[in-house]
Amino acid sequence: MKHIPVISSSDYYRIEELIDITSFAEILEGYYQATGIPNGLVGPEGELITQAGWIDACTHFHRGNEETNRRCIESNCSLLEQARPTTISYSLCKNGLYDYATPIMIEGHHIATLFMGQLLHESPDLEDFEQQAERFNYDKAAYIAAIKQVAVIPKEQIEKQLGHMVHVTTVMATSALSAIREQHLQQALIHSKKQRIEMQDLLDNSPAGISWCDEAGKIEYINHTFTRMLGYTLEDLPSIDIWFEKAYPDPDVQREIYLRWKDWTEKQANSDSLFPDTLTTETTIHCKDGTTRRMVNRISSINHKQLYICSDVTEKWRSEQKNLTRNRMMERVAKGEQLNSIMHQLITDIESDDPSMRCSILLLDAEGKHLLNCAAPSLPDFYNEAINGVEIGEGVGSCGTAAYLGKRIVVDDIATHPYWKPYRELAARAGLLSCWSEPIRSSTNKVLGTFAIYHETPGTPNADDIEQISFAANLASIAIESLKNREELIRSELAYRSLAENAPDAIARYDGKGELIYTNPNFTALFMHNTLENERCLKHYHSVINQVISTGKPQQVEIQVPIASGYCYLMFNIVSEENEGGSGALAIGRDITLHREMEQKLEKQARSDFLTQLINRRHFFELANREVLVASRYNNPLSLIMFDLDHFKQVNDTYGHGIGDMVLQKIADVSLATIRATDIVARLGGEEFVVLMVQTSHDEAWQSAERLRQVIAAATISLGRDEEITVTASFGVTTLYFDSGSNHTINQMISDADNAMYRAKQEGRNRVASSW
Ligand code: GH3
Ligand code: MG
Ligand code: MG
Repeated sequence: MKHIPVISSSDYYRIEELIDITSFAEILEGYYQATGIPNGLVGPEGELITQAGWIDACTHFHRGNEETNRRCIESNCSLLEQARPTTISYSLCKNGLYDYATPIMIEGHHIATLFMGQLLHESPDLEDFEQQAERFNYDKAAYIAAIKQVAVIPKEQIEKQLGHMVHVTTVMATSALSAIREQHLQQALIHSKKQRIEMQDLLDNSPAGISWCDEAGKIEYINHTFTRMLGYTLEDLPSIDIWFEKAYPDPDVQREIYLRWKDWTEKQANSDSLFPDTLTTETTIHCKDGTTRRMVNRISSINHKQLYICSDVTEKWRSEQKNLTRNRMMERVAKGEQLNSIMHQLITDIESDDPSMRCSILLLDAEGKHLLNCAAPSLPDFYNEAINGVEIGEGVGSCGTAAYLGKRIVVDDIATHPYWKPYRELAARAGLLSCWSEPIRSSTNKVLGTFAIYHETPGTPNADDIEQISFAANLASIAIESLKNREELIRSELAYRSLAENAPDAIARYDGKGELIYTNPNFTALFMHNTLENERCLKHYHSVINQVISTGKPQQVEIQVPIASGYCYLMFNIVSEENEGGSGALAIGRDITLHREMEQKLEKQARSDFLTQLINRRHFFELANREVLVASRYNNPLSLIMFDLDHFKQVNDTYGHGIGDMVLQKIADVSLATIRATDIVARLGGEEFVVLMVQTSHDEAWQSAERLRQVIAAATISLGRDEEITVTASFGVTTLYFDSGSNHTINQMISDADNAMYRAKQEGRNRVASSW
């Protein structure tokens, strides 16, 4: 590309930049050849640009002498000084020759000066020149010859010629300048066009919608994204007022948004701030196609224009709205609100998204054949009443058909659709022109009812509408099932509670911290006594509860609870249990008092003699063996008395076995009453008894035996009718002294006592004999 000179504001074009100096020099040379007039072009700073022809008078003589050379230069300087634009200046040099000069001006800028000369206007006065030759010591003949060669041109003629040359030069430079200008302009145009295209691309392909309007509210620009998102083009929105009308058709919403914008605009106008505020709003905007989008809008004031940038947040907003609607509904379900009120609120939430919608929820009756009103707050009462109880079937409006066929029914025009034939007038009275109905299905796919959306204009649902109606039907189904589950839960909870409240067991539940969260009446009654003893036994019980909570392993614990009539034994089965606060524990306690008492009785029976209730033979040996060990450790004397009733066979034979038993019981009683508390009396078998006496010497034992003999002999058994029986017994006494080094056992003692007793029998009975 050709280089185009560029000028800065302080500079201007140089003549060399405007005209081709080589060609121009050729023109000037041609002129010199034709006229003999030397000429030259000098730049604005006095620099020589081109020159044609010299005259010998100057080159050989004037310039050669110091004084004439000075005169030459002085003349040139004064000529340059007096040269004025458009005026042809000239001077007669002090050496006698004429010089002409004229500046070349372009747009008021001095770009060069055109010189012509030296020359003469008329034939020279040779005498003057001869004097000059003498004065400056020139070769006179040669000087005169040189002067004769100087071109002679009348003043008017040279002025015309110079004027013409200047004109030609100016025209050449000016036309060159306009060519340059044109090129500049073209390049600037190309450049700015490219820039404009780049800017336009940027704006149009911005992810945000962009638009701006002027101070008067005239919309000047709308980018492609704006049109793609909202459908409007610049033709649709000539002014900001029309934008408000179209974007916010609801008059109340429109007013609110308009006022907010107006308020902000006024504040901006009055603000001196260098950094004006941005007005940010989030609104639901109506698109050209009638759908709505949720937009975040940012308006800022730039250079007397308002820039509007918007981004589409519809998807995020819709899912947030759905979550809100779902959460609000679940909260109501959890609170146990009535189904009708929950559905009413659900419809209000759904309708708030689009005020032109009117929704209804109808539920199938128990039979599954009729639709019953559940909620339709925006439909007139007469309409709801007429629909209530309608039998489902194909052709029974949108809802009757949807419930019957189990699929979504879209009726775009009620006035003409065959499904609505029976209800056309009813719908017309209610102002309803279209109805889309979605079956509400249970989790097992059973039709529970219908969710319908009505409009006052005919129309079919778009993708968003379909998503919304299925979302609403789904929520309705969740509400119905959740409420049903909740009711069932309450019912079963009540049933279980009744079981627990009436169970004979003591039941308690604990949370994860071991705190009581439930007790049945039995439990409460048992632990009512807040005694110290109660506290002690509960301490163990609570430690087991905490163990079960922390380990999760079931445990059993038996506790003894003091009650009014003594003690109550409780066996608790404690298991870990999941409840709201994490894993807690469930304790079920059964009253085992009877069982315990029975056990104790059996145990006692195993130890005692059934007839006399004395210690029996087996248990006596257990106790006696222990006492032998104790006595041997502490070197205590241990004595044993053995006695046998005398001639007892006769008692049986005379009075019968029953009376014999009575006698045995009497003997047991008097023996027990006679001996010390530390002594152990046992019935070894038949009518044979023993008394083991701890820490008792042989003498003491013998005396005890004697006393017992007397008591028995004195005891009487009444047979009624003044008849009495008395018996006697024979006694054998033996004693072990462990410090004597003897190493006896209880069997040895029995054997010794038995021998002594045998002797007592032999010696006449009713007496005491010692083994010693
Ligand atoms: P002795 O003075 O020699 O001891 O004469 P005895 O009659 O007591 O003789 P023996 O010891 O041989 O007889 C014991 C009798 O005691 C035999 C039996 O009929 C009677 N007898 C043993 N056990 C019971 C019992 O539990 N009830 C009754 N009624 N009689 C018993
Ligand atoms: Mg006997
Ligand atoms: Mg006997």
